[in-house]
Amino acid sequence: MTTETVKAPETRAFEADVSKLLHMMVHAVYSDRDVFLRELISNAADACEKLRYEAISRPELLGDDPQPRITVTLDKDAGTLTVTDNGIGMTAADMAETLGTIARSGTKAFMDRLSADKNGEGQQLIGQFGVGFYSAFMVAGKVEVVSRRAGEDEAASWASDGSGTYTIAPADPAAAPLRGTRVRLTLLDEAKSYAELHTIERIVKAQSGHVPVAIFLEEAGSEEEARQLADGAALWTKAKSDITEDDYADFYRSVAGQFDKPAVTLHYRAEGRHEYSVLTFIPESKPFDLFDPDRNGRIKLYVRRVFITDEAEILPRYLRFVRGLVDSADLPLNMSREMIQESPVLSAIQKGVSNRVLSELEKLSLSDADRYAAIWSNFGAVLKEGLYEDYERRAQLLGLARFKTTASDGEWRSLKDYVAALKENQTAIFYATGDDLDRIATSPQLEGFKARGIEVLLLPDQVDNFWTTMGVDYEGKPFKSVTQGASDLSLIPLAEESADASPPAEDVSGFVAFAREVLADHVSDVRISDRLTTSAVCIVAPDNAMDLQLEKMLAAAGRAPEREKPVLEVNARHALIARLEQSTASEDERRDIAFLLLDEARIAEGEAPADPRAFAQRLERLMAKTLG
Ligand code: ADP
Ligand code: MG
Repeated sequence: MTTETVKAPETRAFEADVSKLLHMMVHAVYSDRDVFLRELISNAADACEKLRYEAISRPELLGDDPQPRITVTLDKDAGTLTVTDNGIGMTAADMAETLGTIARSGTKAFMDRLSADKNGEGQQLIGQFGVGFYSAFMVAGKVEVVSRRAGEDEAASWASDGSGTYTIAPADPAAAPLRGTRVRLTLLDEAKSYAELHTIERIVKAQSGHVPVAIFLEEAGSEEEARQLADGAALWTKAKSDITEDDYADFYRSVAGQFDKPAVTLHYRAEGRHEYSVLTFIPESKPFDLFDPDRNGRIKLYVRRVFITDEAEILPRYLRFVRGLVDSADLPLNMSREMIQESPVLSAIQKGVSNRVLSELEKLSLSDADRYAAIWSNFGAVLKEGLYEDYERRAQLLGLARFKTTASDGEWRSLKDYVAALKENQTAIFYATGDDLDRIATSPQLEGFKARGIEVLLLPDQVDNFWTTMGVDYEGKPFKSVTQGASDLSLIPLAEESADASPPAEDVSGFVAFAREVLADHVSDVRISDRLTTSAVCIVAPDNAMDLQLEKMLAAAGRAPEREKPVLEVNARHALIARLEQSTASEDERRDIAFLLLDEARIAEGEAPADPRAFAQRLERLMAKTLG
């Protein structure tokens, strides 16, 4: 794509992704199309905030029009809705770069979600999260943008009807805004109600009432003065007692770009060595781009009400679901963004706000377990990233962590509860990882734990494969994988009902020695298992080796370490194993069976037999023999 200046009108094709997105907008059956206006107003407000920031070092950019404002103009006769701002504006090159491509990671993530979308969930997503400028095509057959960048003489225009192309051209300076951008929508027939004053008044107040730039509404050609719909006052500077829950919710929606409600609102003023105001929210629902690697915390940094940046990484990545802003009273306004990043004031703010968010979560977990559980369900997988990224807060995060366990019946359990329920002689916190909660819960390795009434944490998230391997402990109890190493369960007595039900362990040392010898190329050991009660065999990772799930995950990512041979564990209480010990079958037959048992254990782990052809042949020999 070119970004050089545009001298004559040019027609250009949209990036493929934009075309896809536009097609969707144009054919949207989405009922709540009002969101388009929020998107346009938020772009206008962003443009005003960018100008406010640039004008710190170049006050002349403001000229004799220093008050930022956004005006919505309706023309019923022409069927148009126009949003005008006196913000930073765009050059033709800016337009080509931003209004023909998809720049924001959120939108890209949205598109990915959409292509995977089978049951029309995408339609809801538009409403929940908005998709920026292009949402104008939900209500408009034509969108025209005229803009003049602050400080420039030349103006530029952009227009599209939402099909595959747009045109970009120099604009008549006399007809362009003196500074800033005008976006005019020619409304579709079925969207003509968006030219009604009362409709727009209602929508703007509901969606954008707390945008930090004043908003006016006027009717084209009317004598009446423009009505002010929002005063642009900074909500966070008001006293808490003057702010209603609805105010907070509205503000949350405009700052977060989401359409749900905040689950937690945190509004306070830090005083003392550093002074700053904080207004942050934990969303009620889970944004679709939570795991997008480009997504950052997006906590906005203001300095005395001037928006500076949303890239200051005020919160660590594992708190990236928190939305909102910080307004500092003691960072100098004329400091560059780069210098701000390095400033000790900023690091004090980062530390202070992070601690406060976590302590707020802690408080909530104690005062309202259900509400806290809902937050953990949405964001626990993200918070757990902190267990390996933030050593200093690890203990605190372990306190916040909740787990489904073999004993929790689908509920969330804390480690505190887990440790309180330790069995006699149990010295570790046991866990099992995997992709799927149900599959983990039924894996053979858990049998011995169940028989002893030992609770096992079920860890289905990718991050669980990492933090668990970092030597983490909780109250002196190490975490131990059920698929790793000797399990030392023999010291812990069987629960009574299991003890009664399970047959006595036979002496199967002869078969164990035999299998160890014939399987030597494939396993590092064969041993009698503590962890099995009903299955005949399972494989586990050797002592001190990487956990099986982690190894699988790394292999899937193409980063497989030299694989350590697994350990085959056999169940000495299992009738089949006991019979093998006494069997008079030929050595070849016993050998086949040893291999089949290993493959069976591999298959139970979701792996393929070591040698599928050999596996098939052994199985056939066995079947033939059974049939005689
Ligand atoms: P986002 O606002 O998340 O960046 P949008 O799709 O809403 O994504 O807008 C895309 C880009 O178009 C903006 O980032 C901005 O660069 C530009 N833009 C849109 N509207 C305006 C405006 N009123 N003034 C200046 N730039 C704008
Ligand atoms: Mg936007």
